[in-house]
Amino acid sequence: MITLDDVTLTFPDGESRITAVDRVSLSAPAGVVTGITGPSGSGKSSLLAVAATLIRPDSGHVWINDVDASALTPNQATALRRNEIGIVFQQSNLVPSLTAREQLLVMAELGGGHRRREAVRARADELLDAVGLATHRGKRPAQLSGGQRQRVSIARALVNDPSVLLVDEPTSALDQERGAEIMDLIARLTHEQRTATMLVTHDLIHSDALDRLVTVIDGRLADATMPTV
Ligand code: ADP
Ligand code: MG
Repeated sequence: MITLDDVTLTFPDGESRITAVDRVSLSAPAGVVTGITGPSGSGKSSLLAVAATLIRPDSGHVWINDVDASALTPNQATALRRNEIGIVFQQSNLVPSLTAREQLLVMAELGGGHRRREAVRARADELLDAVGLATHRGKRPAQLSGGQRQRVSIARALVNDPSVLLVDEPTSALDQERGAEIMDLIARLTHEQRTATMLVTHDLIHSDALDRLVTVIDGRLADATMPTV
């Protein structure tokens, strides 16, 4: 479960500041895909960056399960992010020289933890299987299609068994059919792995895959446009 409590984020804008996130309070429960939509520039990515503890808000709190991320030191926040938060960006951000399997193993290594090497390998292979890439483990990003690369980045985001999964516009570089497959995959993994998933999307053609949907306009949360669970 992740909760944003009265979060405000501003950026410098010439002499003044621009308010990207304006007093947003929002909870995303475990096992559910919470969609966040809204026009371009409305603050969706900013909201996700705050949720990911990548940017500290001007005010307000981010709770990851029972931990107030805004109260952590930078080192503690990094550890929390590595172990509890999986992030999937618009572009898959894979390391060009690593195979699909190695992308996951490196992330597991960074996550530290105390898992044995065999357990980490088994988890990586299980996830690559779950995203439909069992036979592509040994391929590098250049040998994979856009949709396959996005699958690797989803598997990578889950390798440390995070409780929170944050996804920003995962389908924007894909055609509609590939986009629908990626959305269905995220929904299935959210339900199976019980992650609290927040998914930002500016277009709603794939809204079937969302369990609930909130709208952001000018940094503010509008009324829920779909029933909340
Ligand atoms: P969205 O993801 O909904 O398109 P963003 O969160 O990217 O919106 O942007 C919200 C607002 O914050 C925009 O006005 C944008 O220009 C501004 N903004 C975003 N990131 C930065 C930044 N790093 N520095 C300055 N302004 C930013
Ligand atoms: Mg954005």
